[in-house]
Parts: sequence; structure tokens; C-alpha cells
Amino acid sequence: MKSIGILTSGGDAPGMNACIRAVVRYALDKDMRVYGIERGYAGLIGGNIEEMNRRSVSDIIQRGGTILKTARCKEFTTMDGMKKAAYNMKVFGVDGLVVIGGDGSFRGAKEFYDNFGIPSAGIPGTIDNDLAYTDYTLGFDTAVNTVLSAINNLRDTMTSHDLANIVEVMGRHCGDIALFAGLAGGAEIILIPEKQINEEEICENIKLNQAKGKLSNIIILAEGAGNAEALQNTIIEKTGVQIRTTRLGHIQRGGTPSMADRILAARFAVRAVDLLFDDKDKKVNKVVGIKNNKIIDEDYATALAKTNKGHEDLYNVAKILCT
Ligand code: ADP
Repeated sequence: MKSIGILTSGGDAPGMNACIRAVVRYALDKDMRVYGIERGYAGLIGGNIEEMNRRSVSDIIQRGGTILKTARCKEFTTMDGMKKAAYNMKVFGVDGLVVIGGDGSFRGAKEFYDNFGIPSAGIPGTIDNDLAYTDYTLGFDTAVNTVLSAINNLRDTMTSHDLANIVEVMGRHCGDIALFAGLAGGAEIILIPEKQINEEEICENIKLNQAKGKLSNIIILAEGAGNAEALQNTIIEKTGVQIRTTRLGHIQRGGTPSMADRILAARFAVRAVDLLFDDKDKKVNKVVGIKNNKIIDEDYATALAKTNKGHEDLYNVAKILCT
């Protein structure tokens, strides 16, 4: 394949820009033409497509967000929308796509191939780390580091005042941000959607900590695991401990990407471009990922069907270390 388009879709994540830069420059080095598509699938439907050169991606490696902008596009989920997108790809002479996004964006890419034969390589870009086929997604490491920095700050003030804090973090239905930040940040209690919340046990633990003289507790709550206010009220009622809630919200989505995310961006980009470059029959319909520190690729359908992240070991270690 000689001509590719690149788009970012769904939720933005730190490292998307580093990845756009890597895709553009690596593809140009292979004498491919690269087109930037604005606002994900919406730009594909609207024809917001522009050829990129090495300078189009200057000075973006360190920036969060995405210079191509991102969007959620309902129209692309319809046959009519996809038809317009396929037509524009023909008009602009774009043979295949690099799609940086999450599971929704990959479902779109798969539908696009199934219905209109448009090949693509997907790069997992989401802070949530909610794709089971890959150990890590782009942006997750940076987001966890942002949470860690917040926990560090909270710890200082919580310890000084003997206060407890519930820190609610993002992740949708996945507890990875909470688990990794909780383990790395030394949280006393980690609550994730993959494990049933037991309020009795939480209150018992807090009381036990109190008896041991540990008055300041950090509880990390994944947004998909439960309601922070309700939990806060229960803890106050049952333990008498002073507890606050901090919702970190969108600050987790922004910020300069970490070293790990920038390297991952480059490695994902190389595999995605190679897949398209080597695709003589225009049949690529795959995502890239990382497993045991090796870059992998897999069909969309196989990758999206996986559900088990398998972080049981980390969860158990965190439970031992937090007491
Ligand atoms: P993410 O990629 O972060 O999971 P979304 O779930 O919002 O974000 O998906 C991004 C976009 O992908 C959607 O707005 C839509 O345009 C497209 N998309 C998602 N699911 C499908 C589908 N089944 N068919 C076609 N397009 C889809």
C-alpha cells in the first residue's frame, strides 16, 4: 500500500500526538503518502483530509491531546455514513487507515472493512487500558503517573491532618488505572469493578488501621466500581472517620506523555505502518498491541472478543502491601 490516512477517534489520550508523528515520519520514510484526517470518522465523512509532511508533525511529541482532534461520530455507525467515508477515501486516493482509538473506534474500523472493504491497522489509544488483548494502551502510563502525582500531594495533607480520602479515578469499566495507581501509590484500599465491593470489609479495614494508629487512609475508587459519595457517607456513619472525596476527572486525560507512552507510540506506529505497507491485497484488518514486551498484531474480531486482563496477581500483591 502506498497511500494511507491517519485519524484519532473516541476519547483522547496522552501519546496520541507522539504516535501521529511516528506514523507520519515512518511512512514517509517508506515513500508512502500520508493524509491527516480531522476529528476521527467525522472528518472522513466530511472530507476534512489533508496531506501531511515531516513538518506537519513538528513539535508535538511532548503534547497531550491530539493535533488531528477527535470526535464521536454517530453517522459513521450507519451504512450511509460509511459509504460517504469510503467515497472520500477514493476521491483523496487514500488506500488504508491507521485508526488510533479505543474499542469503539476499532468496532467502527471492523465494520468499515466488513461492509466496504477498507483496510486498516488499529492502534490502542485510551487511558483506560480496557482492551484485554494488549497489556498496555497508549496513554495509560501517563494517566497513572498523573494519578500518582495527585496521590502524593493528597498524602502530604491527609497525613498532616489525620484524614482519609477517597480518590475517584477514571477507567470506565476497567479497574487498571485504580489498581496500578493504588499499588504504585501505596493506597490502603483499592476498589475496582472486577472485584465486588464489600462496604463492611472496607469499614472493618479502616477501623483496624485506626486501632494500629494509622489514621490517614487513601482509598482509590475506580469510577466503574461504585459511587464515591455513597461510600463516603457509609464510612463516616460506620467508623466515624473523617473522610473526603477527590474526583480527579479530566486532568487524567491530559498532560505531557511519559517516556513509556512515547516509546510505545513509536513501536505501535512502526508495526501499524508495516502492516499497511506490506498489504498488497488491501486486506489488513488488524489491531496492534503489546504482550510480554513484544509488539503483536491480531484481527479486530479476535482482539475485541477477549475479556480477561488477568491482573489477579497484582491485585493480591496490592492487598498484602497496603496493610
Ligand atoms: P473509543 O474508540 O474511545 O472506544 P467510542 O466508543 O466513542 O470511543 O467510538 C468512537 C467512534 O467509533 C464512534 O463515535 C463511532 O463513530 C465509531 N464506532 C463505534 N462503534 C461502531 C460500530 N459498531 N460501527 C461503526 N462505527 C462505530
